[in-house]
Amino acid sequence: MRFDVLTLFPEIIESYCNVSIMKRAQESSVISINTVNPRDYTEDKHKKVDDTPYGGGAGMVLMPQPYVDAYDAVEKFDNSITVMLSPQGEPLNENLVLELSKYNQIIMLCGHYEGFDERIRDIIKPREISLGDFVLTGGELPALCLIDAVSRKLDGTLGKLESAMEDSFSNGLLEYPHYTKPRDFRGYKVPEVLLNGNHKDINEFRFQEQLKRTKAKRPDLYQKYFENKEN
Ligand code: SAM
Repeated sequence: MRFDVLTLFPEIIESYCNVSIMKRAQESSVISINTVNPRDYTEDKHKKVDDTPYGGGAGMVLMPQPYVDAYDAVEKFDNSITVMLSPQGEPLNENLVLELSKYNQIIMLCGHYEGFDERIRDIIKPREISLGDFVLTGGELPALCLIDAVSRKLDGTLGKLESAMEDSFSNGLLEYPHYTKPRDFRGYKVPEVLLNGNHKDINEFRFQEQLKRTKAKRPDLYQKYFENKEN
């Protein structure tokens, strides 16, 4: 999977992706991450990438020329998708992450300041994706969330693929609780069933815990889980 990130702040992407699991995934060639700075493509002699909005109003708008030229310069693979990170997009969730993980390349457009000149949308026609109903200063954090979540779905990113298969949302429920050593911490004990080595009992306990906590924390998911089972 190749990620190409158009951003005015490549160091944000690089600093996150060059440590821990994202770094390992790059080293083992499961993913590759390429940043492209529209500022390197501006035709303006002062390297300007933004300007004041026509019609007035606060903030600076990202100019179309540097973004569209930077986008055109990105090598396009077969089975590629272009995504614009935007609070106006469809919300990122597990189904969308799974869908995106089937592509060979995701090209991402990160905005900043007041956002994109509308003609960037008109020309590139990206799929707009949002991290949620709130506004951030830039598209880099949402792009990183997308890179991280999609990478976890790819074989070879995690040490054991099972750890992703049992995560929250993978079967429509939140994940069961985890415990590690010590057995007793400040009087809080690890449930006995996890210590007896009976995997049938352990699986049943964990499934019941999944149901219990999904019902308590996310009644919407709980309801959907049973609706899907009935269909
Ligand atoms: N004026 C824009 C609006 O109200 O729709 C918001 C611009 S925001 C300050 C700057 C950039 O941050 C956006 O172009 C986008 O790339 C990114 N951004 C902000 N919030 C986001 C969110 N919830 N999801 C995805 N990207 C977001």
